Amino acid sequence: MQTYAYGYPRLGPNREFKKIIEAFWKGAATEAATWEQLNGLQEKMIAVYEKHVDLFPVGEITAYDPMFETAVTVGAYRPANLTEYYELCRGKNALEMTKWFNTNYHYLVPDFSQWNEPAFSLTTNRTKRFFDRFGKGLPHLIGPFTFLKLSKGREPERFDEYLQSLTVVYHEILTALQAVHIEEPAFVLELTDSEIAAIRRSYESLGQTGAKIHLITYYDAVDFLETLYELPVAGIGLDFVHGPANLDTIRQIGFPKDKLLIAGLVDGRNIWKNDMSSSLTILKELSGYAPNLAVSNAGPLYHVPVTLKGEDLPAELMDRLAFADEKLVEIKQLADRFTSGAIPAVLQQNAFGANASVQKRVATLEDNDFIKSIPLHQRRKRQEPKLDLPLLPTTTIGSFPQTAEVRKQRADFRNGRIDEQTYRNWIRHKIADLIAFQENLGLDVLVHGEFERTDMVEFFAEKLDGIATTKNGWIISYGTRGYRPPIIYGDVSRPEPMTIDEIAYAQSLTRKPVKGMLTGPVTIIAWSFARNDIPLSEVAYQIGLALQEEIRDYEKAGIRIVQVDEPAIREKAPLKRKDWPAYFNWAVRSFNLTTNTDPNTQIHTHICYSEFGEIIEQINHMDFDVISIETARSRGDILVSFEKIDFPRQIGLGVWDIHSPAVPTVAHMQEVVERALKVIPKANFWINPDCGLKTRDWPETEASLRNLVRVAQTMR
Ligand code: GLN
Ligand code: ZN
Repeated sequence: MQTYAYGYPRLGPNREFKKIIEAFWKGAATEAATWEQLNGLQEKMIAVYEKHVDLFPVGEITAYDPMFETAVTVGAYRPANLTEYYELCRGKNALEMTKWFNTNYHYLVPDFSQWNEPAFSLTTNRTKRFFDRFGKGLPHLIGPFTFLKLSKGREPERFDEYLQSLTVVYHEILTALQAVHIEEPAFVLELTDSEIAAIRRSYESLGQTGAKIHLITYYDAVDFLETLYELPVAGIGLDFVHGPANLDTIRQIGFPKDKLLIAGLVDGRNIWKNDMSSSLTILKELSGYAPNLAVSNAGPLYHVPVTLKGEDLPAELMDRLAFADEKLVEIKQLADRFTSGAIPAVLQQNAFGANASVQKRVATLEDNDFIKSIPLHQRRKRQEPKLDLPLLPTTTIGSFPQTAEVRKQRADFRNGRIDEQTYRNWIRHKIADLIAFQENLGLDVLVHGEFERTDMVEFFAEKLDGIATTKNGWIISYGTRGYRPPIIYGDVSRPEPMTIDEIAYAQSLTRKPVKGMLTGPVTIIAWSFARNDIPLSEVAYQIGLALQEEIRDYEKAGIRIVQVDEPAIREKAPLKRKDWPAYFNWAVRSFNLTTNTDPNTQIHTHICYSEFGEIIEQINHMDFDVISIETARSRGDILVSFEKIDFPRQIGLGVWDIHSPAVPTVAHMQEVVERALKVIPKANFWINPDCGLKTRDWPETEASLRNLVRVAQTMR
């Protein structure tokens, strides 16, 4: 039994990756020194792998993002030096960033719209360079299919042409190598017959190089295993954690005796200890089909933090966890126990974090708990007189500029440099200033500004029982940016009100309605590590019930509008469409449970980062009164999708793309509104920016909102 691992977090135990690259950005390190340091990081990764496993890749290290690195290797971009390279990653004309599969990692999207035809050519064989330098490991590549599938800017019908041209470059890379590690996560998507045929042609060509190919798939099951078996590759990596269907297929069609089966059994996307006894049962079954077997991680390890060392979480929780280093140990243990025949005990869950009354509430939920007592149009009749809003009401999405001053105050409070009373007073001042600012601008529905929140998930994670936060559990989000996902380990409940103080205070300062502001259950789950000992639907309902209590407290405090943000609802959707109904069923129900309070309260939601058209049907089952959506990237599509569906709810299509520092003009925003009003009834339309303003500065915020209010006034 061999062992195989990949995707070890390049961030490093002390976020060395970030420090090395940011030193270059600050001009504190030369290009050569930066590469030397990155090589040092690669060397350490190799040392960690070598300690635990037989097979592992080399060349996983990148100066920013592996997709972009691949794009440069195959000549899609030709930066002359590292400065030009970073210009493409984060400069004014940087590539677009988007989420990598259904994970929280963002990659740079290669764009071929400048090309009339595929013009790939090998710039440097970087993976060979790494191999030559270190003399060990399997040279690492993102596979040609995944690279192309995740790029943009070429006609879909020319996919095959592009792939075969790209294959010529990969052929050249492989010719110089004896063995390689190629990752093809896009193989788990729902592919067309012609895409599968294109894959076959591509790999038949690569097979002719004679290089031993270890082809790794992950994040779900492969739907065309039979074809995959016929490819000239030496080993196939399959994910048995997120793609249990792989095992069903193997039971039906077996596994080729001449290939190595790289069995992904140690979860690369979550932080729970491996259940050795059930993994060994699967391994044993697999060994009956595949005499050549290796045990591996399922999904790259960079989705989990580096090490548990240094965390001071409660012992009962520590006992359940495994980060990347601990997962490498598990891979080795699995192989050893398989060989020795030792039978480990079934993983026993301690009772830490259990809350019987929360469990009971979820167990006794009935259909009515998910359905509002009064339907949409009747609610509107009740809400309108109470809110007394003008036609085309204006509002914002919640946060206002999180300036250095705001971040410093929060950090000072956290580190004990200022006491709680001082901090609270300061927050109150910020809120009071912001209320005056919004009234002065003439906005209709006001917000408190979210100055007390570092992050829309972490803030609630710290206040809810059953969720822990770590000291050093960083994972990579994009580029050099990391974040620390909270850990949902137990039954979730709300020990006390979480946001009422700030919202009620804001409302006390104005007669205009102030929106209560909450993060929804799906987003809290998506940006955390969620427990997997109960169904995600139950986790979502627990969080939903806690948030519902918060809304009831808002209502007692006289708050008339509540916004529940669900920006992650699209990204959390499974990769395969066939799995969508089950997911959206609980995702939508958790929203409806959360907001099933007094029907006089106007419920808003906000969704971003999504191709809205894809999910409009599902969103329409969320029983909110008003939705605001990000439109910067898909405005045209959105309107088309509203034409196709009966969408009776009120909508704020963002008229200001807040991802850009440019101040939108009145004329520009007016044009956006006019176009939208061709499809959406004027009585249902709201005017707002397309996302929160936390990354913006004050001057552009003020100028833009002034214009935005003018648009509304003119159009009324
Ligand atoms: N209310 C949040 C904010 O304004 C929404 C953030 C988001 O959509 N990601 O910051
Ligand atoms: Zn948003």
